[in-house]
Amino acid sequence: MSEPTRRSNFLTDIIDADLAAKKNGGKVVTRFPPEPNGYLHVGHAKSIILNFGTALQFEGRCHLRFDDTNPATEETEYVESIKRDVRWLGFEWGERLFHASDFFEKMYQCAIRLVKDGKAFVDSQGVDAIREQRGDFGKPGRNSPFRDRTVAENLALLEKMRRGEFKDGECVLRAKIDMAHPNVLLRDPLLYRIRHAHHYRTGDQWPIYPMYDFAHPLEDAFEGVTHSFCTLEFESNREMYDWVLDNLGPWETRPRQYEFARLELGYTIVSKRKLLQLVTEKHVEGWDDPRMPTIAGLRRRGVTPEALRDFAELIGVAKNNSVVDIGKFEFAIRNDLENRAPKGLAVLNPLKVTVTNWPAEKFDEIELAWWPGEPARAGTRKVPFGRQLLIEQEDFSETPPKDWKRLAPGREVRLIGGYVIKCDEVVKGSDGQVVELRCSYDPDSRGGDPADKRKVPGSLNWVEATRSVPVTVRLYDRLFMAEQPEAGGNFLENLNPDSLTLAPGARVEPGLAQIEPETRWQFIRQGYFFSDPKLSRPGAPVFNRIIRLKDTWAAKAAPAPTPEVRRDKKPKEDKPAAAPKKGRTEHRNELRASSPELAQRYTRYQQELGLAPDDADLLTGDLSLAKYFDAAVATQASPKSVARWLTNELLGLVKDEGFADLKLDGAGFGRFVALVDSGKVSPAAAKTLLAKLVEQGGEAEALAGQLGLEKVTDSSAIVAAVEKVLTAQAAEAARYRAGEKKLFGVFVGAVMKELQGTADAALVRKVITEKLG
Ligand code: ATP
Ligand code: MG
Repeated sequence: MSEPTRRSNFLTDIIDADLAAKKNGGKVVTRFPPEPNGYLHVGHAKSIILNFGTALQFEGRCHLRFDDTNPATEETEYVESIKRDVRWLGFEWGERLFHASDFFEKMYQCAIRLVKDGKAFVDSQGVDAIREQRGDFGKPGRNSPFRDRTVAENLALLEKMRRGEFKDGECVLRAKIDMAHPNVLLRDPLLYRIRHAHHYRTGDQWPIYPMYDFAHPLEDAFEGVTHSFCTLEFESNREMYDWVLDNLGPWETRPRQYEFARLELGYTIVSKRKLLQLVTEKHVEGWDDPRMPTIAGLRRRGVTPEALRDFAELIGVAKNNSVVDIGKFEFAIRNDLENRAPKGLAVLNPLKVTVTNWPAEKFDEIELAWWPGEPARAGTRKVPFGRQLLIEQEDFSETPPKDWKRLAPGREVRLIGGYVIKCDEVVKGSDGQVVELRCSYDPDSRGGDPADKRKVPGSLNWVEATRSVPVTVRLYDRLFMAEQPEAGGNFLENLNPDSLTLAPGARVEPGLAQIEPETRWQFIRQGYFFSDPKLSRPGAPVFNRIIRLKDTWAAKAAPAPTPEVRRDKKPKEDKPAAAPKKGRTEHRNELRASSPELAQRYTRYQQELGLAPDDADLLTGDLSLAKYFDAAVATQASPKSVARWLTNELLGLVKDEGFADLKLDGAGFGRFVALVDSGKVSPAAAKTLLAKLVEQGGEAEALAGQLGLEKVTDSSAIVAAVEKVLTAQAAEAARYRAGEKKLFGVFVGAVMKELQGTADAALVRKVITEKLG
């Protein structure tokens, strides 16, 4: 169970106020209420962490409740998977396991009471007629012709419904509220419908099932929930929630509903229906496919519960919907793995290297630490070195570009933990492909600690060719290519064809072949890997790539992988290998306690620059980062913007190199932020620009011009793009005009795409509105 950390957000503020006012007898009871009709996903993880985490924080309790009021789609398989996922996230419900179906009888008694009080009636119309009479926003509805049935008549009909004497859809039970109610949801809403269906728990006991708006508040009240958190879509349902509770009861504790923003994540889908479609149409290998955003998929990918909780903490609890940058999620994952994954050597795409001045039968066994640079963390293994080696194909270039730090004819590199080698000769196959490098090694350079203290620009991962072990490596990548996979209409069109590739020639050092399933490793310079729980066998691990060492999506032109050792990294404080991972904040707190330079900045960033405590914390966990930030702010860029771009974007881009060595220096970064703030490039284009700057250096403004990333504010260009899109999507435009307003976003997306994300979105909206109006 995780330590309850003290979080504060608008929901905890509400609870604090309730406790201060002595409401609910000082109790805090929350619930997580999944419908067992699919596997949980990352959005649910957020809700679980919010509900269970908040209860823990206030020493209250959180119930796990299966909201199983829909017999058609619910299954025991889902119930079991949900329990497993909640436990895996680190939460326990103990005795507090509930099912809505436990309360079917009590709910039915409530319905009878409403009928007796003249507050509900049986409507013998079909749902289509009822919908048609409901009216619209600003247009009152009409009363049902059955609205004035007597109490006795309604009671008899309801009992007949209960006994199963009507067919599906023949009638419904409705609340009797007001057909002119400004909130459409209170225009005599449905309370019960007839469903002759087998329920996975109650069997054939019930031919009628309660609607969400009736069932949910009652479940909360029956269980004694005090604070019922749900997502923003339910804001207008709150009035009905209150109506139900106010017209039934009295309640010992009267629950209240509060809404928070649901989690939407870039490059990700969080709709159960669409996830189900991915599974049933076999676009993925199942609910737990490591590419799926399901908790089961993330677990199998190798993501840890701590990373998910860190992520939830990082994004906080919002009141407004927005798409969270997936970079934040990936940052939390890397940040978590950095401290838990020992570092070993593997080669994914091998190129043969023969060390010509090394005797054929001789092997060196080099003892290397699993935690290089962290002497306090125990654990070493022997890595064989010999005449036949393998390096990555992409680490050799016959005609290297400027700045190339890897191997090339006549150049030297260090083989990490091994020796320095020099490429003397390139051997090619009949097709002209490089098949082998003939190199010589420097006997004085053993173990990366050369006696002659020579500086060698590049360090490469490698393995010995005959003693390394072939393994299956599954290279996972984002499942979708578009940040908003649903924007273009059909999300399947945005599936990334390269979301899973194999590395058929991959080999690992012997020490990585003997590992346990379900353990996490860094392959130096390659990424973090997890030995798959289902596919790994003793001595034959199957590795899933959890994530690359840095975000290569932002700069799709795949820059060189950076050396694994952060040049700015300070030795970490003494820490036994088995010690549980410290919270990152805690770690930074300790750093600040021993460094006045960081501590002063932490205070100054908040008091003088007005940064949020989180940002100040993140920026002062590393002196080179703090100095970089200072240099950016010195250019007169807005400190808050600099902090935001730094923590949201830049950190993800440069995770594995030092800030001191970035091609884009602090001042250049400051000028980049100022340029974006001036509105000359759009936020989407700015991301591309930043990735380029990090990759190749240069001046933000000049590069934006070169790359054509300046914002299109020229309305003629926008008008042309809008016209093009509306012509191409004439059918959708007609549907929009006929009332399908949600298509608006599709047009905006298409126009932005047409203009490569450079247009002023507000202007685009305006032009589209005009054209469609
Ligand atoms: P459905 O469309 O089937 O209702 P759902 O995603 O709402 O799908 P539920 O099982 O009803 O699924 O969700 C359980 C709980 O998780 C609810 O309280 C819901 O508000 C919350 N939840 C669902 N999706 C998200 C999300 N993306 N972000 C945060 N919370 C979520
Ligand atoms: Mg739901």
